[in-house]
Amino acid sequence: MSFYPHSGPWRKTQRPRERVQQKETKLTTFQDFKLNDAILRALAEEKYTTPTPIQAQTIPTVMSGRDVIGIAQTGTGKTAAFALPILHQLAANPRQSVRKSCRVLVLSPTRELSGQILDSFRAYGRHLRLRSALAIGGVSMGKQVRSLLNGVDILVATPGRLLDLVVSNALRLNDVEFFVLDEADRMLDMGFIRDILKIVAKLPAQRQTLMFSATMPRAIADLASQMLRNPEHVAVTPVATTVDKVEQRIIRVDGGAKLATLIDVLKQETIDRALIFTRTKHGADKVVRGLVRAGIAAEAIHGNKSQGQRERVLGAFRSGTVRTLVATDIAARGIDVDGISHVVNFDLPNVPETYVHRIGRTARAGAEGIAISLCGGEEVAFLRDIEKLIRISIPLTDRRSNPGKSEAMPADRPTSRPHAHAKDTRRQWRRGNRPKRDHRQQKSGENTGGIDTVAFLKDHTAPRRDHGKRQQHWAGQSKGQ
Ligand code: AMP
Repeated sequence: MSFYPHSGPWRKTQRPRERVQQKETKLTTFQDFKLNDAILRALAEEKYTTPTPIQAQTIPTVMSGRDVIGIAQTGTGKTAAFALPILHQLAANPRQSVRKSCRVLVLSPTRELSGQILDSFRAYGRHLRLRSALAIGGVSMGKQVRSLLNGVDILVATPGRLLDLVVSNALRLNDVEFFVLDEADRMLDMGFIRDILKIVAKLPAQRQTLMFSATMPRAIADLASQMLRNPEHVAVTPVATTVDKVEQRIIRVDGGAKLATLIDVLKQETIDRALIFTRTKHGADKVVRGLVRAGIAAEAIHGNKSQGQRERVLGAFRSGTVRTLVATDIAARGIDVDGISHVVNFDLPNVPETYVHRIGRTARAGAEGIAISLCGGEEVAFLRDIEKLIRISIPLTDRRSNPGKSEAMPADRPTSRPHAHAKDTRRQWRRGNRPKRDHRQQKSGENTGGIDTVAFLKDHTAPRRDHGKRQQHWAGQSKGQ
């Protein structure tokens, strides 16, 4: 298993690129952290031997009582990074449960991720006598209200449902000792920030706060400065690291031939599990219908599916009964399934960072995988943005019926109005110019990856350009998916 240790404190006075000083983190064993024996036993049962870099950096800091702000994507082991030291502290300071209250509050943006976080707490804490509960939307509130009546140690929740429970007096937040905000940037994208501010206002000032985010746009940095006290900054898995572990391919197709190409790809490749991304929920259903017609068992997971359906589909994917799962970005976020051999982008995302998140699903916990992207004419500009971000020219196979026409002038006309910046980029190609690099990137010199790739690119380039569009995009999807 190969992990990439990077860490370093940030100083506010430094410019973003200089902030993160990389230092070698000596990989330790879990025993070195002096975690409670019952937790160590559970970790041995989980077959965790070596802490991941985010765990090596975060666990001792949290155990020392400090707030932490962590830049880490899913797949880096960040759940255990916060769950283990919290469990240790709960075990070290046992307390009688207080009615309608919790000692640990974890907020995550999606129902799936919340469920997975709770499962992790339960797995690592299986030899401790702790009470835990889940508060997510899409299921009845009655059971959640009852499970909170006598109080719990750990509550994992999505923001909307948590506020509903607080407003209906089923839960008080004044006994929270540990507050974890996970995937903070996704919370922002999904419009949860106001809910989070309302929740934070109800928390006691005396608490330990941990915040994790894959990227650090300004709004998240501002939120952190309101929520955290003198936090330790930790950062791992730069964009380039995840990308490096994935074999990437592009297939140029005519827009109408995507489904046939996908079927071809799935039949030719040796697939353990394939996660296929579409832009819309409707698109996901359509792809599933097409695959099933072609004799490939597939299921869709997205916001229009009930909680029960999603759990059934995820269970089937996990167990391998269904090896092809078609998902929208928001539903796929937080799906914690190891052994995904292939990620297929049926549609390329218009936000380049989303591409990195997607292909990272196949390179979890040090594994390697294959990412295949189908690129129609109107998506060429998105592809250029992606290649610019990851600084790799992805190998391309041309399967268009008329590939003679050059990439500089996409053969198939856009079928829908393209994204504004994509249109601008295409205009530049028509004029025969490669799109100019953003002046902020030029100023920063050659960006060779590293931690600051995540923080810097995201903070200073992409979000400004895409922010409005992304807000609209997420606004079209239901919250707490
Ligand atoms: P996360 O980033 O928390 O979603 O974790 C990604 C995956 O890595 C999960 O399947 C975890 O079970 C696994 N994992 C986390 N920490 C370790 C570790 N120290 N050793 C092996 N696997 C781990």
